[in-house]
Amino acid sequence: MPDEKKPAIANLSTEVRTFPPPAAFADVANAQPSVYEGANADWLDFWEKQARDRITWFEEPTVVLDDSQAPFFKWFTDGTLNVSYNCLDRHLDTIGDKVAYHWVGEPGDTRTFTYRELHDEVSRFANALTELGVRRGDRVAIYLGMIPELPIAMLACSRIGAPHSVVFGGFSADALASRINDAEAKVVITQDGAWRRGEVVPLKANTDVALVRCPTIEHAIVVRRAGNDVAMTDGRDVFYDDVVDGQPAEFEPAVMHAEDMLYILYTSGTTGRPKGIVHTQGGYLTGVTTTHDYVFDLKPDDVYWCAADIGWVTGHSYIVYGPLANGATGVMYEGAPNFPDNDRLWQIVEDYQVTIFYTAPTAIRAFMKWGDEYPARRDLSTLRLLGTVGEPINPEAWMWYHEHIGGGRCPIVDTWWQTETGAIMITPLPGAVSTKPGSATLPFPGIEADVIDDDGNSVPLGGGGYLVLKRPWPSMLRTIYGDPDRYVQTYWSRVPGAYFAGDGCKRDEDGYFWLLGRVDDVMLVAGHNISTTEVESALVSHRAVAEAAVVGRKDELTGQAIAAFVTLRAGEVGDDKLLHELRDHVAAAIGPIARPQSIVFTDDLPKTRSGKIMRRLLRDISEERHLGDVTTLANEAVVKEIAEKAQRSSA
Ligand code: ATP
Ligand code: MG
Repeated sequence: MPDEKKPAIANLSTEVRTFPPPAAFADVANAQPSVYEGANADWLDFWEKQARDRITWFEEPTVVLDDSQAPFFKWFTDGTLNVSYNCLDRHLDTIGDKVAYHWVGEPGDTRTFTYRELHDEVSRFANALTELGVRRGDRVAIYLGMIPELPIAMLACSRIGAPHSVVFGGFSADALASRINDAEAKVVITQDGAWRRGEVVPLKANTDVALVRCPTIEHAIVVRRAGNDVAMTDGRDVFYDDVVDGQPAEFEPAVMHAEDMLYILYTSGTTGRPKGIVHTQGGYLTGVTTTHDYVFDLKPDDVYWCAADIGWVTGHSYIVYGPLANGATGVMYEGAPNFPDNDRLWQIVEDYQVTIFYTAPTAIRAFMKWGDEYPARRDLSTLRLLGTVGEPINPEAWMWYHEHIGGGRCPIVDTWWQTETGAIMITPLPGAVSTKPGSATLPFPGIEADVIDDDGNSVPLGGGGYLVLKRPWPSMLRTIYGDPDRYVQTYWSRVPGAYFAGDGCKRDEDGYFWLLGRVDDVMLVAGHNISTTEVESALVSHRAVAEAAVVGRKDELTGQAIAAFVTLRAGEVGDDKLLHELRDHVAAAIGPIARPQSIVFTDDLPKTRSGKIMRRLLRDISEERHLGDVTTLANEAVVKEIAEKAQRSSA
């Protein structure tokens, strides 16, 4: 193609199924279509109104957006507030006895916290942290599993004004140490051991290994959970209950400026060295409360369950800050979804009569792989809304979720956002927007998104390219901790004035957004830029397939050839016949150009700790490169197995 300009990313697939909101849902939905009209008329006014209505300020802000130092945007700069006060204290007179969390331990024990109980425990812990020397502005590392002390610790930090840095409990000592050191944390909060699939993960022992090289840490606070033996270093380590018991259940919340730091959260590192994403107070709380209310259609008697880990941003925004500030009753589960059996989550939905459920495509594909009988065992009829986040959802996985979990009646909100965005950016409003399986649909009110080509020009509807956000928004990251240049470089230098998300995207004729995976993963086959998502979704649309990953492997003839890795549904056999069938199936579904050159059947795919497919490693395997460090993977062993199979299939 000498002169013809090739599209930044090709658009190969078309999805024709649409699902309008059920009338009964739409009639009483929190977000009516008029919300878009209001926000379109004046987006700054829209955010100002949300900030005023949804937050209890100590001093109301008069400034909405300060863009004088763009891209270092500031929001509500002269307002003061306390986030913990907004999540707890202001509810005490009205819903103090309402359940804030139903907590379910993996071994089967349970705990329940009302808003008042949560307030009291947070205050006691804030007093204990203060006694241990934590002051406003100090950074506190939190390395805990999914136990109630995790949100309690976050809220205690925000009460004091000490930014927290939550490190996912599945991370290694190395990952913990580098995050502690980058943030120069003064205190680390951990637990003896965390339950995971019936076994104890020794978090305190990992912490001990990390702390050998963390000079800024003065104290480690240890929650007793699994009862395993731990070594305590005199003068440094204390048990949570020892320092909390007997503390007063009152702690005056610090008066924070809207732009003071609320937390640092390191991105998972799918694409390289972790970045310390910085979020602040007023804008963040505005973003998470608004989206949580409108996207999840929260009603006072809902039982809301975001089944993510608080170690990721999803848990920060939609297990802790958004739901608590909105006064929701939430469910929190400690353990694995397949312990003791594959129906554990559905059992919890039944037990607590969950009405809103939010999870990730990786989990949905695992449910598909395990089989339809597990959700069928339980009564899921209380569910009225489903959500997904984390990766593009394959249309067939969407349909499976819709039928087998949603009983065909629940709207699904496919929510696109990032650690950096703080809150949901592209999503249906479930009572106002018709959904299409695989599309995150439309930008949230107040958000302006676009798809651009290599020259930064907007791509007309029907075409693919790179996703950008063209206006600042209140919950946006403020910088990368300690590295403002990298902030500008990574997000604001590709396109003048726009935030570069790093994801491929296309829009259909209705203006709906279809996320196409990471820009770095796009494959170049015979002059066409092909997204991983479309080929993977074509594979998953075959009845035998539960999950698929594809990568571009160097090829003398075509530049890159498509190498596919496929996990089958329970009971299916990956033989030569199926292999040929799948290659033809992809060619028929989205075109011969996308036909995989090779397919490897595997029981699992390499995933990050947050459950996302790690295509970079599959590329290394396909091109027979040295694999380097795989310890950030959730499932290290699978890489070796796939590498061996890939070698055999190419021999
Ligand atoms: P790192 O930035 O360290 O590589 P990460 O990008 O996986 O890690 P997150 O911020 O948790 O960390 O994930 C955001 C990314 O997840 C998005 O950029 C996008 O690639 C993907 N994503 C999230 N939600 C969706 C969605 N609904 N549809 C498609 N992709 C999604
Ligand atoms: Mg990212």
